[in-house]
Formats: sequence, structure tokens, C-alpha cells
Amino acid sequence: MKADLIVQNARIVAQTGVFVGWLAVQDGRIAALGEGPAPGPAKTVLDGTGQVLLPGAIDTHPHFFDPGAEWREDLRCGTQAAASGGYTTILDMPNTSPPVKDEATWQLKAGRAQQNSLIDFALWGSAMPSNLDELGRLAELGCVGYKAFTLDAGPDFDWSDEYGQLREMQAVAALGGIFGAHAENPALVNGFSGAHAGEEWSLAVHDASRPWQAELTAINTLLLYARLTGCRLHICHLSIPEGAALIAQAKKQGVDVTAETCAHYLTLNYEDNAALGAFAKINPPLRSRARMEKLWEYVMDGGIDYLGTDHAPYLEEEKLPPEGGRAAACGAPEIDLAIPLLFEEGVLDRGMDLQRFAAFTSTNAARRFGLYPRKGTLAVGADADFILLDPNSPWTFSRKNSFSKSKAARFGHEGRTLRCRVTLTCLRGVPVYANGRILQQPGFGRLVRPQGGDRP
Ligand SMILES: [Zn+2]
Repeated sequence: MKADLIVQNARIVAQTGVFVGWLAVQDGRIAALGEGPAPGPAKTVLDGTGQVLLPGAIDTHPHFFDPGAEWREDLRCGTQAAASGGYTTILDMPNTSPPVKDEATWQLKAGRAQQNSLIDFALWGSAMPSNLDELGRLAELGCVGYKAFTLDAGPDFDWSDEYGQLREMQAVAALGGIFGAHAENPALVNGFSGAHAGEEWSLAVHDASRPWQAELTAINTLLLYARLTGCRLHICHLSIPEGAALIAQAKKQGVDVTAETCAHYLTLNYEDNAALGAFAKINPPLRSRARMEKLWEYVMDGGIDYLGTDHAPYLEEEKLPPEGGRAAACGAPEIDLAIPLLFEEGVLDRGMDLQRFAAFTSTNAARRFGLYPRKGTLAVGADADFILLDPNSPWTFSRKNSFSKSKAARFGHEGRTLRCRVTLTCLRGVPVYANGRILQQPGFGRLVRPQGGDRP
């Protein structure tokens, strides 16, 4: 049978190994792949000479602020930016306004995503002290996990103290779900913030105000509750190597936990990037250069399971309020840059194995959240979600050219010349992005629901 699409001469990062060869698509799925020259004809043939063909990236942690704060980002622009950065599936975070906390708010978010998302999407539900009775319904609707905050997360989201965390994890364990947590201990954050309140605000002071001990304490408690309840635990946006070490130890002891980190914790720190000021104000904060470098060790050895973007753009005026950095909003855009950045600093600079890169950016998340083997792998029968990445195609990043709503030029990596770029993003065999252009309409993406899911 004549394939719909063949990509040939690319370095293919397949489930079975890495080889120069071809990949054939039929009816949106991978029909065949192999080494050497492509065997047969196809309706469309693309040449991938010199490029790396990877499974489409899966973002476990974007915030598109839709519904509720679409002036910052929305599902339409955010998923276009995601596709331009090599993402084919997103797991949208639930702390929108309103948060995804019950059937009505799920339908609201799912409807908007179905109309606007360029790429496939799954939805997180919320775990809050006030919606314990709704968790089962959210599971039936297909939520991919339950997100909780261990400290204040703004007026719309009901955060969870230790009592809340324990009760929610008991409930999520009974459903067989995944409990994902933003982990910072509020007592330590309040105490250290008070101790540094008199100092002029900077990224270093932000780190000192929400220090590594606050994150480690929250992780430690969550690991204890995972042990007590048997709940599957996901630590969001891990920023500290001490946390990675604790999680690695817990895994060895049989705790069902995975960890995510973000490109900013691996490529920015408060020492070298102090000039970014509030534009790099993120929670948990950017850490020291030494912690950033140490965190890489856990990425390289697999101790940290996957990459999330924590993509959360804000307007310039939200980042530069007249009251100063302490009043600035926390979050930064990243979804269009994370994959080329990590490929450059991980694969090209640190010698990260290509299959490890694919696992870190796609496969492990697909496995953990029940999307595998349909998503997250280059294997026969899987959705033909893949990207071509040119490892030797320098370009200079400017946020004004981004598909994201966020055009503010003062966020991290503005003006940086990157050595590699995503040249093609294919979703279910259809190019959705190629060489600077979006090729499909909003709403091309579909809702994906978890089916089982196992441990990376
Ligand atoms: Zn987040």
C-alpha cells in the first residue's frame, strides 16, 4: 500500500534504537520504519538528511490561562507556540479561572481546548480540600492526574495543607490516579520571606525567601504520604538536586513517584541571569549555578523522569509593577524554546544520549500518564507524532517572533543564538508546523484520555 507520508534519511530515535533511515505514515499512525533507503512510494516524501527525528514532545506542565486570563496566553496561541517548539501533546494545568474542579469546569475547559488547540491535549484536574467529592467524576471524564498546591496559589485555587494533602492522596489512591504537587512548604516560605523582607528584591533574594529547604520539606512530606497511602505521586517542576536525591531514594524503597523539571532550572540561575530580574521570577525560584549544574546529573542518569515547561507568560506590566519585584507576577514563557534549548545543552553540550532525550521529553510522560504506546514513541502502530530537529541550524531567538501571546522581549534567552531548531512538527501524520509556519487550523488537536499507565 502506498504510504501517506514518508520521511527519509533522518536520524531516527526509535523505541528499538537510533539509526539513519525512514519512517512511513498511514492513516495517522506509524506504519513502518527502518534503516537505510525508504522501500516504497508515498503520496508525500520529505527529506530529513542531517536532521534528528524524535517522538513529538509531551508537555506535562503548561499554563495557558484559558479560561480566565487570556490576555497572557490562550489555548490557540499557546498550542501554536507549543507546536513550533516540537510539542505534539500537552497536559494542560487545571489552575485556570475557574479551576478544573468538577464536571462543569471540565466541560468548559475541554470545550475551549477542542475548539482552539492545534495539538492533542489531555487535562489535569484539581485536587483541593473543597472538591474531594468530585475527584471520581473527573477520573471518569478522563483527567490525566490531580494537581494540588502545598501553599497559596492565588484566589481561585484552594490550596492544601498537610491535612488536605493526606486526605486528597487517600482519595486519589483509591481512584488509582496520579497526585501532582507544587511542593513548597508555606511555613518556611513565610519565615524566610519575612527574614529577607528588608532587602532590595532580586532573584537571589527571591531564592533566599523561598529556599531549597522549603521545597525539600514539602517533597519529604509528600513522599511520606505517598508511602502511607500508596498514592502515585508526581513532583512538579523540581528545582533542587537535594529533592532529586530524596526522590531517587524513595523510588528505590518502592514509593511510586516521578519527578519533572523545567528548562529554566537547567539553563538559568540567579547568579548568571540576575539581570533578568522579575522576568525570571518563578516559583520555585531559580537556584544557584551550582544547584543548576548538579540538577543536570539527575537528568542525565534518569533520576528526573521528564521535562515540563511550566509555561506561564505574563504581561510586561504584571512583571514590572510600581511596587517592585516582590509584587511582580511569578512565571515565564518557555514552551517554544524548551526542546531546542535542552537539545543544545543536553545532547550537544553534555553528551546526553538521544534515546534518553526522547524518554525525558516524551516517552516517560506518555508512560506515566497512560498515553503510551499511542503517544510518546516511534514504533509501528503509534500515533505518527514526531518532530524533525536540525542540530546544526543556528538561529537567534526573539520573543517578538513567537506564536505565543507573550511578546515581551525581557524574558530569559531573548537574543540567544541557538544551534538547533525544530523544522517540522507532525501530529497524527499531519504537519502542523514547518519552518516558521503553522499549517493547521485551531481545533485540529483532540482530547486524549489516559488508559492505564505504568512506571517509566
Ligand atoms: Zn505550574
